[in-house]
Amino acid sequence: MKNRFAFVVSFLACVCFGHPDLQAQAASKASPTPSPTDHHDRKPDDIFRLKPLSGNVYALYGRGGNVGFFVGPDAVLVIDSQFKEIAPGIVAQIKGVSDKPIKFLINTHHHGDHVGGNEVFRPFAMILAHDQVRARMLASPVDIQRNYPALLEEAKKAGNADQVKFFSEQIEWAKKVKVEDIAAPILTYDSEFRIHMGDETIQVWHLPPAHTDGDSVVYFEKAKVLHMGDDFFNKVIPFIDVSAGGSARGYLAALDKVIARVPADTTVIPGHGEVTDVAGLKSFRQYIADVIDAAQKAKSAGKTKEDFLKDVDLPAYKDFSGYKDRFKANAAAAYDEAR
Ligand SMILES: [Zn+2]
Repeated sequence: MKNRFAFVVSFLACVCFGHPDLQAQAASKASPTPSPTDHHDRKPDDIFRLKPLSGNVYALYGRGGNVGFFVGPDAVLVIDSQFKEIAPGIVAQIKGVSDKPIKFLINTHHHGDHVGGNEVFRPFAMILAHDQVRARMLASPVDIQRNYPALLEEAKKAGNADQVKFFSEQIEWAKKVKVEDIAAPILTYDSEFRIHMGDETIQVWHLPPAHTDGDSVVYFEKAKVLHMGDDFFNKVIPFIDVSAGGSARGYLAALDKVIARVPADTTVIPGHGEVTDVAGLKSFRQYIADVIDAAQKAKSAGKTKEDFLKDVDLPAYKDFSGYKDRFKANAAAAYDEAR
């Protein structure tokens, strides 16, 4: 119970007030999903580390999911908006590179550390994402009102003033917010689309359910840069948001699709962790494959989920950030999906 509560709080601490993404917290009610958020923590001097990549594409590390942006001849396209209070800094960083107007914002998925800054971008940028991103963001007031009163009671019982304040404010926000005020994507798609900016073509693909069921990856054809959103955590144990349609097997399918589709010399921006290459992406794929394999073997041997989770350990990945917090939840998801 304590763990579950710690999860909720650490996640919420990152998601920030009035934030539309709350599906994952709902997951915490149903399953002992550990924190998806400690990978957000960066040292203060790490905030807004800018990394120029090829072809006018940049990676911008901040406090939430890694931002990517592309400077075209007439406009700038941005991938993910992190948190509301961080977003003005993201805009300032981009303005430091180019005075071209920011016209497009792509959300890779609905989590608060990727869409939290949307309302900062909304006045000037068209926000695009998979259909499920919009659907989940618009559903969040209902989800909060359904799930948070119990969490609030739990916080009151535990005497945790910060949590009580947080849940109370979220419930108030959910009661008051008008759905049309939520800064959800206004242009959504179901399988893939392209944006053409100068001589660059930006491909946006929806993948099989992996991190969530609304994941997009963004590929810059000419620059050969790929932004994976949270379908890739580089040297970080991922969060598989089962409550939002995420899947361990889906992760593997999604990664295989991407690896088959991009050139071997592609530069890869993960949702969390450092920019890397296709070899880095393949290492992550190996991690997912190993978790699935361990779960499948246990299930085939007749091991109960409880026994499996008690024993399971993949020492090769112990150095990945978040191993203690999220590995067992990954294993649980894989066990549930094992046949
Ligand atoms: Zn995420």
